[in-house]
Amino acid sequence: MASEGRPSDSDKGSLAAISELFDEPARPRGRNRGLISSSAIGLANRGRVLQVLFDLGPTSRAELARHVGVNRATISGIVQPLIDQGILVENDPLPSKESGGKPARPMWFAEDAAPICAVLLMHDSVQCCLVSLDGTITAEARAAFPPDAASVETLAETIYASISQTLKLAHRPPLGIGVAAGGMIDTDNGSIVAVNLAPLLAGFPLGAELTRRFGLTTRVDHHPRALLVGDRWFGIGRGKRNFAVIYTGEVLGGALFLDGHLYRGPAGAGGELGHTFVQVDGGVCRCGRRGCWETIATLGWLRREAEIAGLPSAEVLDSRCLVALVEESAAGAVDLLDRYARNVAIGIANLQQTMAPNFIVLHGDVVGGGPRLLDAIAVHVRELVPWRPGGDIELVMGDLEDRAALKGAAGLVLSELLHFTL
Ligand SMILES: [Zn+2]
Repeated sequence: MASEGRPSDSDKGSLAAISELFDEPARPRGRNRGLISSSAIGLANRGRVLQVLFDLGPTSRAELARHVGVNRATISGIVQPLIDQGILVENDPLPSKESGGKPARPMWFAEDAAPICAVLLMHDSVQCCLVSLDGTITAEARAAFPPDAASVETLAETIYASISQTLKLAHRPPLGIGVAAGGMIDTDNGSIVAVNLAPLLAGFPLGAELTRRFGLTTRVDHHPRALLVGDRWFGIGRGKRNFAVIYTGEVLGGALFLDGHLYRGPAGAGGELGHTFVQVDGGVCRCGRRGCWETIATLGWLRREAEIAGLPSAEVLDSRCLVALVEESAAGAVDLLDRYARNVAIGIANLQQTMAPNFIVLHGDVVGGGPRLLDAIAVHVRELVPWRPGGDIELVMGDLEDRAALKGAAGLVLSELLHFTL
């Protein structure tokens, strides 16, 4: 495996070496006569190589060249520096084809490359872990915020302690910190605009604080967008050009991948699906407005309605328990499941009519409801959206435990470091 001129193991993956690699090459003055500079073409090609790797999994140089539409020499020019830095690794050759020729060596992200610290910040807790470039999660830790916290500093100390503990477990200096945060995020500067359930966090410049404290590249984005990146690179959305994710639970959010790109909107303002209106003058939402989708398709609604229907343990009911009650034929459970499914379907139908993502991944509490709830939601979506050519809708379940959000938070950092537009 070793070849001349490669950095030693201690150099591989070092922060200085990697940031040098990731820095945009200096553009030669007066030589950019084409419509697009050669350095921009280089970055675009590198982005496409990485996208093909994430789409196809381990891939040989020849296959990469074919999919990216460039020659082998160009591929080598892109991948060799990444191999030298220990980011990519070429695995053992596959058996030669009968037709002969050089055996292909599939290339993939190195298992022992420097990891990324991923953080999932919700209104009541912070979860941290290390994510390897191939999506493996290790060193998981979770801390709840003190319920009586009176200042944002108290919450921040919990976040810093958790990240610090996780960073210490890394076998080599991590490449950066990726944060998936519930609430409204200004993605231009990594600050939290507002979290309805945790007002103390409003205005907190989390990204800048983490960069200052830990000296690492930090990316902060809206939790559902991290879910989407996790699904796109490491999960069920792999290879898709268009899809959406919806997260339900105590809050409701979503994110969109359109024509091969993550849609953020200016400063991350797009995709506030939970606060699109589904009922004119409906119930009051935590955002202060009325009739938001979040008022009828989250656990708060489900528990209130379960109470009215006289279902047992209504105050802690979730989708999993509701389906269990349906299976026990508890009075009122079938009706409540159907109404909940319809409420979830209404927002999905609006989204489908607006953007036609066609492939919709559900995350969060609804996943606990399993195929019974998924089928009920799908029936309502199909009733609410008229069939049209190109409009076949597929609904699938993502994960219940937010693994995709952690992987996606790491993906956000990787895309930043590689100048690779998601
Ligand atoms: Zn609202």
